[in-house]
Amino acid sequence: MATLDKNSCEVRIDGAWQLVPLAEAHARHRSAEKRCPVCHGQVRTQGSYSAQGTIAMTHQRVHDGCPRIPRSYAGMPKRHPQALD
Ligand SMILES: [Zn+2]
Repeated sequence: MATLDKNSCEVRIDGAWQLVPLAEAHARHRSAEKRCPVCHGQVRTQGSYSAQGTIAMTHQRVHDGCPRIPRSYAGMPKRHPQALD
């Protein structure tokens, strides 16, 4: 379950947020709105050319309250300042 979460993002499908594996979000929901399941900040998916089949999730705006942004995370989970509802 933790693994699924780490490799998933939320996609707005028919108006409702659904947890979708990153690979599927990237392949099938490229133009849909996506958000981080932890902080609800807007994200986009990105394919990696070095490791084929690996899809990464990137926050549109970095903040210090999300463990999914290890480089900026300050240690306390916080809602994204521009969270999508
Ligand atoms: Zn986040």
